[in-house]
This record gives sequence, C-alpha cells and structure tokens, in this order.
Amino acid sequence: MTASPEETEALAGRLAAQLAPGDVVAVSGELGAGKTTFVRGAARTLGVTGAVASPTFTIGHRYEAPVPVAHLDLYRIAGLDPEEWGDLEPYFDGTIAFVEWPEHGGDWLPSARATVTLRHVDESHRRVRIDSDLGL
Ligand code: ADP
Ligand code: MG
Repeated sequence: MTASPEETEALAGRLAAQLAPGDVVAVSGELGAGKTTFVRGAARTLGVTGAVASPTFTIGHRYEAPVPVAHLDLYRIAGLDPEEWGDLEPYFDGTIAFVEWPEHGGDWLPSARATVTLRHVDESHRRVRIDSDLGL
C-alpha cells in the first residue's frame, strides 16, 4: 500500500530499476487509481526529464532516455485490428514500455514482464500489486 502519489512514484522507480530494453509493463486499475502516477515515477527513474502525462489525445508517447520509454494508454481502444497494431508496434521497439488499460489491447500486446494493479483504498492510499519475475 502507498500513502501518497510520491510513494507510488518511488515504488514504480524500484520496479523500473530492474527493467531492460524490450520489457513491457501492464498497468491496470480504474480511472484515478494512479496508473499515470506510477508510470511517471518509473519514467523518472529511467531518466525521462520532461513532463510525463497521460497520452489523452494520442495513443502513446515516446520519451527519449538512455533506454527510450514508451507510455501507451489504450483506454479508447476497443480491440485492436492488425492495422492498429501496426501503428502501436513501434512504441515497443527498443523501449521499456508501460501500457495503461492493457486489457483493451487483447492478444496483440507483447507479453508483460511485470503486471501492476492499482486500487483505491481512500483518497490518498492505493493498494499496489506487482506481479513479475523480478523479485519485487
Ligand atoms: P490513472 O492514470 O489511473 O487514471 P492518475 O495517476 O492520473 O490515475 O491519477 C491518480 C490521482 O490520485 C492523482 O491525482 C494523484 O495525485 C492521486 N493520488 C492520491 N493518492 C495516491 C497514491 N497513493 N498513489 C497514486 N496516486 C494518488
Ligand atoms: Mg492515466
């Protein structure tokens, strides 16, 4: 459990420190659960210096960093077709990729190195579950 956005960012940083190029992290949870906050913390640890915000008007962002970081939000996707997958694929090429609403990507997404699930507890607390083989 985390008690603030900062704690969620710090936890994300600990996961990020163990990731390698090509890794995909699925980040699940309802609106406001803290998915973007988690991705922001991870991106910071990976060396992203600019603003990290939800890709609302586009499906994804790609941030330059020692290993480029991709941030996708599939909220508006209702099942990918091959053409849409073709548009998304470059985001996974040589990056460490974080995907919000991975459920909407169906079977197209590369399998996740880690799966993060955030749940509201109260206004400032979130339960954060990380499933991975990374020992976190
Ligand atoms: P999502 O991407 O899941 O919709 P955001 O990360 O955009 O969620 O927003 C989470 C909101 O909840 C932010 O306003 C953040 O400040 C707030 N918040 C409060 N407590 C926490 C916490 N412990 N962890 C993450 N976010 C928190
Ligand atoms: Mg978000």
